[in-house]
Amino acid sequence: MDFDNNTADDYPGAHVDVEAVKKIILELIKALGEDPDREGLQNTPDRVARMYSELLSGYRDVPARVVNGALFEVQYDEMVIVRDIEFYSMCEHHMLPFIGRAHVAYIPNGKVLGLSKIPRIVDMYARRLQVQERMTRQIADFISDLLKPQGVAVVIEAMHLCSMMRGVKKHDARMTTSAMHGAFRANLATRQEFLDYISRGSKPLQI
Ligand SMILES: [Zn+2]
Repeated sequence: MDFDNNTADDYPGAHVDVEAVKKIILELIKALGEDPDREGLQNTPDRVARMYSELLSGYRDVPARVVNGALFEVQYDEMVIVRDIEFYSMCEHHMLPFIGRAHVAYIPNGKVLGLSKIPRIVDMYARRLQVQERMTRQIADFISDLLKPQGVAVVIEAMHLCSMMRGVKKHDARMTTSAMHGAFRANLATRQEFLDYISRGSKPLQI
């Protein structure tokens, strides 16, 4: 991955056509049998169009800008863990939210990333039409490419509104996915150390 030359235009959906979305939402409201002229719905197409532009802003993030010079050369080779990163994403199958938390760890190999950048990376991939499995892998791959660390681990727990609202069995609504690279894949003790750490004192996921 070339972090310097990526521009927002490299990403699908970089531009949300707010006017086009407005028209479609108006048609959708009609097709759903509602009256788009009643008071509560009059500005809904406009609100929804602007909302999508915000909820799907991850396409516009440029990796070089997200990282923004926060890469540091450090002689440190212990595990770095950032846990309980809240995120909001949109399931690409139903365009309904899935909401949860991400836990990210890596073992540096000469380079570390400013701590606040990890949640920014999670957000960059969450604010798109997504599936949880791909989002998990994308975060791990991004950190892997960027830091070339000894290992990267990402665990994501999320509740999927498309399951919760559609009368599918409730326990199916909650999902955990993981991606393990390098030392976390090769070394059981390393992986276990991370998993033990993130499960310590963790509260059950709730919406
Ligand atoms: Zn779904």
